[in-house]
Amino acid sequence: MGVLLGCIADDFTGATDLAGTLVREGMRTVQMIDIPSDSAPDVDAVVIALKSRTTPVGDAVAESLAALAWLREAGCRQFFFKYCSTFDSTDDGNIGPVGEALLEALGDDFTIACPAFPRNARTICKGYLFVGDVLLNESGMQDHPLTPMTDANLVRVLERQTKGGVGLVDYAAVRRGALATMEAFSELRQSGTRFAVVDALDDADLVTIGEACADMDLVTGGSGVAIGLPENFRRQGLLDSAEPADILPDIRGHAAVLAGSCSRATREQIAIMSRAHPALKFDPMELNGDPDVAARALDWARPHLSKGPVLIYASADPEEVQKAQEALGAELAGKLVEDAMAEIARGLVAGGVRRLIVAGGETSGAVVGGLGITGLRIGPEIDPGVPWTASLGETPLLLALKSGNFGAPDFFTKAFGQLP
Ligand code: ADP
Repeated sequence: MGVLLGCIADDFTGATDLAGTLVREGMRTVQMIDIPSDSAPDVDAVVIALKSRTTPVGDAVAESLAALAWLREAGCRQFFFKYCSTFDSTDDGNIGPVGEALLEALGDDFTIACPAFPRNARTICKGYLFVGDVLLNESGMQDHPLTPMTDANLVRVLERQTKGGVGLVDYAAVRRGALATMEAFSELRQSGTRFAVVDALDDADLVTIGEACADMDLVTGGSGVAIGLPENFRRQGLLDSAEPADILPDIRGHAAVLAGSCSRATREQIAIMSRAHPALKFDPMELNGDPDVAARALDWARPHLSKGPVLIYASADPEEVQKAQEALGAELAGKLVEDAMAEIARGLVAGGVRRLIVAGGETSGAVVGGLGITGLRIGPEIDPGVPWTASLGETPLLLALKSGNFGAPDFFTKAFGQLP
């Protein structure tokens, strides 16, 4: 049937969040690590993860347009531009310019801007974005190092970033239902307004807004507003509601955990796993000047692999990390560990590992890059925000990529326990 919904996310974790939302709402979804070079997989939604949140605006626009071109080629019927629920941007962009460029490329002249994510306490009222009980510009976001948000009024913020006009569809319209919301959109469109900031106070509002966007080529917002979109495809008979969206291929093979996160949660998870499984620690000081550390780790792992999961980690407590950073510099210490993890991951896969958990955001990026993985089919959630995924490509793997702080203390063993 072809891909229905094509999404462009301005950062990796935002893409993961959106992909998870779509799977929960019944769409089989793949997250692509970058703009793909091959053809589209057989799924309902594709989320292309860019790193365009804080890049120069020209680059963000160019990359987003390239992603759009690929998604159009894949046959997508609707497009979604996903940004942060705190509308992370500056007066120069990148949300407004990217949104306008996507609209123009699609030959359309109207879309919404709705970063609301009520489950995470991001709500919009009269166009003002709240984080919990306070306005965006009192939430701490006013001090963000790259995208300080000093104005909570999204109509004004977006006006400063765009050439076309920006209007508001407030909660009074949204609460009257999808039809009233569509009428409000149509009035704004006719008056030449290009973006409608839309109020949303709870998930029911997002469902209404989603329904009202059924005929829009482009929708822009946080992952919250995506909860209303799958139902449109179902209503049109394009989305099979019987088939669970989170089923992954049954991939068998050895299992391993690679941990580079030094967060408290990961260190606790390591301690628990080490009690029952073989574990090996290496540190950045050994790596400096010794090219064989990864090979030795692989030699160590080999005899254990047929007996159950192994754990290899560099994670250390703050004191140890500080020592390594003082000796090597934080950047080199991090890079040495990340490069070693990528090499170890390649060796493990060559040795038959097909089920791999990686702990740490940067560490995950290094491992995914090292393995040449281009896309991830999103499966069932292990703990909030961390799903099992299946990698696309010649050697499919089951992968769980965990941001450092995520997951319960028994995350590693629990995750493997969930697999058949
Ligand atoms: P998190 O998701 O917890 O932020 P990341 O993987 O993103 O985890 O970041 C952890 C960083 O710390 C990585 O760059 C990793 O290479 C680095 N690192 C891991 N172990 C050590 C260590 N023992 N000393 C110094 N840096 C380390």
